Amino acid sequence: MTFKDLGLSASLVKAVEEKGYTKPSPIQEKAIPHILAGKDILASAQTGTGKTAGFTLPVLQYLAETKHPKYRPLRALVLTPTRELAAQVYDNVREYSKYINIKSAVVFGGVKAASQIKTLKQGVDILVATPGRLLDLHDQRAVSFKRVDVLILDEADRMLDMGFVRDINKIISFMPEKRQNLLFSATFSKDIKKLAEGILRNPISVET
Ligand code: AMP
Repeated sequence: MTFKDLGLSASLVKAVEEKGYTKPSPIQEKAIPHILAGKDILASAQTGTGKTAGFTLPVLQYLAETKHPKYRPLRALVLTPTRELAAQVYDNVREYSKYINIKSAVVFGGVKAASQIKTLKQGVDILVATPGRLLDLHDQRAVSFKRVDVLILDEADRMLDMGFVRDINKIISFMPEKRQNLLFSATFSKDIKKLAEGILRNPISVET
């Protein structure tokens, strides 16, 4: 199985090959075709499995294929528990989107908001964010979720442990009902299952 076999475009495959990946990891093989087909995904995945490329590549492909020639509303949102993970996911998004015309950004707390606001105002297709800072920016009208049609929750169990459940639900309340949802978690407690049930529609379960 190759990345091309999974249905990924030549521009994405080229970026992936430059990273030195020779073949998709098991989670990539299982998840990418379903994500490209627009399905919701409930994935059990630890760090180190290649989960980031597993959701980033198909979402970038969707964004590139459906881009409006003039407008660049925020259409994909990745929520992560920590600024370190946000920065890491953003690095991946940047690398994989090297050969496509998609803009990305990252926002997290602990740093000044001014430059984040400026970046958001210029328009981004995909945003990686921690929930608290993202809500602050939304309160300040620096970002809108009205056109978000793909939501990714990365390390959802850690987001719950860190007390982000209310923030997550609030962010979702500003999004269109009709959207694709991808939830990644290393563990599946009762609370995670409850969160997943509230967010996902007929999800495909993917395990590594
Ligand atoms: P992740 O689980 O997303 O944190 O990825 C773990 C590491 O595996 C990262 O350094 C990725 O760059 C790398 N990686 C992701 N997909 C592949 C692949 N198909 N082949 C080899 N390495 C990969």
